[in-house]
Amino acid sequence: IVMYKNVYKSFGDVEVLKGINLAIRPAEKVALIGPSGSGKTTIIRMLMTLEEPTSGEIIVDGKNLWHMQKDGKLVRANEKHLRAIRGDMGMVFQHFNLFPHMTILDNCITAPVHVKKEDKATAKQNAIEMLKKVGLGDKLDNYPSQLSGGQKQRVAMARALVMRPKIMLFDEVTSALDPELVGEVLEVIRDIAEEGEMAMVLVTHEMEFAREVADRIVFLDNGVIAEEGTPSEVLEHSDNERLVSFLSRFR
Ligand code: ATP
Repeated sequence: IVMYKNVYKSFGDVEVLKGINLAIRPAEKVALIGPSGSGKTTIIRMLMTLEEPTSGEIIVDGKNLWHMQKDGKLVRANEKHLRAIRGDMGMVFQHFNLFPHMTILDNCITAPVHVKKEDKATAKQNAIEMLKKVGLGDKLDNYPSQLSGGQKQRVAMARALVMRPKIMLFDEVTSALDPELVGEVLEVIRDIAEEGEMAMVLVTHEMEFAREVADRIVFLDNGVIAEEGTPSEVLEHSDNERLVSFLSRFR
């Protein structure tokens, strides 16, 4: 469903990604791990077109999202393709990014109505169902400021899920939470993962969670994929020194 081909990214003089090749298959759950600053967030932001690669190609569902012309110029998909590609993707951010002036329910209705052109009654019904599923059926008319961090993050997930994406991107969704709220958010992700049909990319510092949920773990280091494999291969049986040292910080 997603292919990164030889993707490079620099910010000014700093080369953050140095040739990323990565394929994400339909329904696959991939965890991205690696030291702070290794470029994990940048990898998923390029998929959301929130960041552009310096060179290389990213293909989503057979459509070029980013590609290089013969003259070496990077081009983005045209508006029509871009809309289709974005419609297949949902993203949940570290800092929730809810609309503060809208109720929880309205936060989850806006995109289906305005982007997907669903009628309001259907969108509302779907949103209520989804909010119940993440355990917030009693908060529909509350505003984001009235919720805990964990609750806000569950709203953010419901808001992405009502768009029925083929792929969900989770960017360190628990790092801004108080430790006691992390569990409830991971629980929701676990439930979504178990339903199985969506592909998921999870940037995470929660190694035990990655082990449980991911089909594949990708270790990013110094701008390259330094190791990848099943959770057991990566977390227990790798002899990559950088990876072993990175993992030792979580023990
Ligand atoms: P963390 O685990 O700390 O979130 P990460 O692996 O997700 O790190 P990124 O957020 O992708 O890393 O950032 C990779 C590097 O790129 C960092 O050194 C960061 O400072 C730099 N960077 C990211 N975004 C920008 C930007 N918009 N302008 C300049 N530098 C940036």
